[in-house]
Amino acid sequence: MTTSFQPVTVDEDFDVNSGSSYSYTRTVHLGPYTVQMRVQRSIRPHDSWAVAEILSADLTWTALAHTHSDRWFEHTTEPYGVNAKDELNEIADDLIRRVIAIIPSNTTVPQQTLDVIGALLSHTYGSTGERVITADDMRWAKEHGGPFRLLQRQDGSVLLTKAHRYDCPLLATAGAQVCDGLCVPVPPTAVPGGSTP
Ligand SMILES: [Zn+2]
Repeated sequence: MTTSFQPVTVDEDFDVNSGSSYSYTRTVHLGPYTVQMRVQRSIRPHDSWAVAEILSADLTWTALAHTHSDRWFEHTTEPYGVNAKDELNEIADDLIRRVIAIIPSNTTVPQQTLDVIGALLSHTYGSTGERVITADDMRWAKEHGGPFRLLQRQDGSVLLTKAHRYDCPLLATAGAQVCDGLCVPVPPTAVPGGSTP
């Protein structure tokens, strides 16, 4: 897949210290990535900076790209009565374009998921099985049967199912309760082994 992720803005913030500096921060989701652009414009170029950072697995920010203030300082206004977002928006936009060019544009599927899909394919179509899944196949599967669920079980096995309703106890409890065969939700007051009205 070569299509680039589209940035979805999830947070924005800006601040003005009149006579001293102003700043703008924008956080976006880019597919599986969380990226923030931080731009600060001070009185002097060497105190002004623009950086894009990516949220790492350990929830720390790692710098991905900088835009040196030489390239934008002269085009921004002094820190008096300024709208920080309007003034620094374009610098953040430019950083996002650069981030999109830097990060991988396809989603990485975890190895365990690949192993499970491989086992399912072999089980259904044999050890040399092959199958193209079209957009229509996926649409049809969503419109028929129950929701697709992958349930990790105690013994290390994985249950792949479309056999149950959304509110079935099996799905609602991620496999902790069994299905009665009718996918009937357990009322909150029900006592295990109690009489059924
Ligand atoms: Zn069920």
